[in-house]
Amino acid sequence: MATVLVIAEQVKGQLKKATFHALGAGRDLAKRLGGAELHVLVAGANLGEAAKQLAEYAGTVHVVDGAAFEHAVAETNALAAVAAAKATSASHVVLAATTWGKDLAPRIAARLGAGIASDVLALVGEGTVHFKRAMWAGNAVATVEVTTPIKVVTVRPTEFAPAEKAAAAGAVQAFAADAGAAKTKFVSFAEVKSARPELADARVVIAGGRGTKGDFKPIEALADTLGGAVGASRAVCDAGWQPNDLQVGQTGKVVAPQLYVAAGISGAIQHLAGMKGSKVIVAINKDPEAPIFQVADYGLVADLFKALPELTDAAAKLK
Ligand SMILES: Cc1cc2nc3c(=O)[nH]c(=O)nc-3n(C[C@H](O)[C@H](O)[C@H](O)COP(=O)(O)OP(=O)(O)OC[C@H]3O[C@@H](n4cnc5c(N)ncnc54)[C@H](O)[C@@H]3O)c2cc1C
Repeated sequence: MATVLVIAEQVKGQLKKATFHALGAGRDLAKRLGGAELHVLVAGANLGEAAKQLAEYAGTVHVVDGAAFEHAVAETNALAAVAAAKATSASHVVLAATTWGKDLAPRIAARLGAGIASDVLALVGEGTVHFKRAMWAGNAVATVEVTTPIKVVTVRPTEFAPAEKAAAAGAVQAFAADAGAAKTKFVSFAEVKSARPELADARVVIAGGRGTKGDFKPIEALADTLGGAVGASRAVCDAGWQPNDLQVGQTGKVVAPQLYVAAGISGAIQHLAGMKGSKVIVAINKDPEAPIFQVADYGLVADLFKALPELTDAAAKLK
């Protein structure tokens, strides 16, 4: 029987939200392949809780638990994923198209001699499953077939519902992987500490563009009042006003929160590619012709330095 292997993403033993979306895609894929088995690999250290949680969603959880895998070094994790793909005779290896997944997937594909469909938006067909993926900043959608015996797939988490729990918990098995062959070794990790939720996981994102002129205080005030994350356009990150990990868009993060507020952002297609799946989009821009208004559910032609503090006050009062 075919096997679909999902690679779980975790940090310090905590599973990332995107993993549950990858499991949702993996489950759908397994069904379309005619009832393939769903396996999941998690590599890291102190994974007891994560493994137990994953067993609620997959038939078999393979756990690589060891100091060599403690830090998410892509090369080391790729070795574990390749070993697990071979051991389970996986026909498909599925990852979330997060920064981590995008780093890992091509390495896995290259080592397995597998074709890859990246940033997949939807699965098409039964038996032979094809993949819909965005091209040209989301302006075109291609349907592709991967013709190699093993296929690597990264799925956009915002396009797949998280997996529902399985009827019965799956088996948890220790899996021995050799990190010794890795040519990259972990040295240190400089963690960005923030009291705000992570951009990709946040229910609310308040994003600022060049219109802020680098002053993010009103953006941060609204984000903190609503318990949201701060995002930025590339113009802002390129100017060094905000760090690159806050960039939303084609070359940044893809987000789909319940509420996305774009303030002082024109709405270039490369920015829209990263946020147009948001449930409710609010745009604040001085220019009534700004393209952001074409995707906005609510548009405010206003100066963000006036409108954002008013919104923040109103939100604080409502709370
Ligand atoms: C290959 C490639 C990849 C790219 N990837 C990305 C990406 O991932 N993410 C991304 O964002 N961009 C990306 N870009 C860049 C993109 O094309 C735009 O240049 C960028 O998004 C513009 O950022 P902005 O909207 O902040 O700035 P601008 O386009 O300069 O817009 C600023 C807006 O602020 C408004 N404004 C000014 N002052 C105020 C005020 N006081 N109150 C209210 N509104 C005000 C203006 O009317 C204007 O609409 C990419 C480009 C390329 C070529």
